[in-house]
Amino acid sequence: MTNVLQVDHLSTYFYTESGTVKAVDDVSFRVREGETVCIVGESGCGKSITALSIMGLVEEPAGKVVGGDIQFQQDQLLGMSKNELRTLRGNEMAMIFQEPMSSLNPVLTIGQQIIEPLVVHQKLSKKAARLKAIELIELVGIARAEQIYDSYPHELSGGMLQRIMIAIAISCNPKLLIADEPTTALDVTIQAQILDLLRELKDRTKMSIMLITHDLGVVAEMADYVIVMYAGKIVEEGEVVELFNNPKHPYTQGLLRSKPILNQRQEELYSIPGQVPNPLALTESCYFHDRCGHCMSICQTKQPPLQQIADKQQVACWLYEEAMQHV
Ligand code: SF4
Repeated sequence: MTNVLQVDHLSTYFYTESGTVKAVDDVSFRVREGETVCIVGESGCGKSITALSIMGLVEEPAGKVVGGDIQFQQDQLLGMSKNELRTLRGNEMAMIFQEPMSSLNPVLTIGQQIIEPLVVHQKLSKKAARLKAIELIELVGIARAEQIYDSYPHELSGGMLQRIMIAIAISCNPKLLIADEPTTALDVTIQAQILDLLRELKDRTKMSIMLITHDLGVVAEMADYVIVMYAGKIVEEGEVVELFNNPKHPYTQGLLRSKPILNQRQEELYSIPGQVPNPLALTESCYFHDRCGHCMSICQTKQPPLQQIADKQQVACWLYEEAMQHV
């Protein structure tokens, strides 16, 4: 499978009055054709900023991509002008955001918002774009498509709005769809329907999906490959079955332990002790050391590198130092 997206040593910093926040710090990964890569981690671990960096949507001057390369198909994204990026966005790569209500324009009809990328990127006439928009509304499973076309966002439910966001995102047949917590604001039934829809669209169009979530249930259902981020860094990555069956990093193990298990009575749900470190006070230590039950003296002074420990699994943890040397 060829790579659709290749991210190498990406670093994105934010400059605050109190100091520099390394929101994404030396992150590398790839997304291959037709593959779903899930990025997981707690809030503030850098998942969404990674996505915004790829889309060229980090707001400067507060934030800045300070290093690395992002290759999308044949193009290097970081050297591109704003116009060139705008041409790619919504066309060959698209993004679905967490809150559809705040992403859609409340004073424009649903139809006006769906036809915009079709007119701008695909150069369709308004009449042809309208027909295509109605087709897309039907495709994402909404009945009475013509009526919905003329509706305003406030007239639709959260689940319908998220489907409309998906319709806009896939309107130009993107090669890469980035979905940032696309089901967080929805109840479980609608969440399952949206995930089914994304899977079905992926199978039909062969697009690649980069899915950002903190929900391991979503990861288990959707992912081919999983990347676990903590405090701006990748701490573990691997194929979904391997990572769920044999998590190596204590943070991944904690995340999986804190997931409720269906039909099993649990007196109390496990939660990882402690808090994510203050991003303004990071040291040379392993960032997870003061929450880790396996912490050793080296962990407090030296950050473990991300290293391959098995055929398709990488981890950044000193517990596997020996395994790293033998790969
Ligand atoms: Fe825990 Fe040390 Fe591994 Fe960090 S490097 S996760 S502190 S064992």
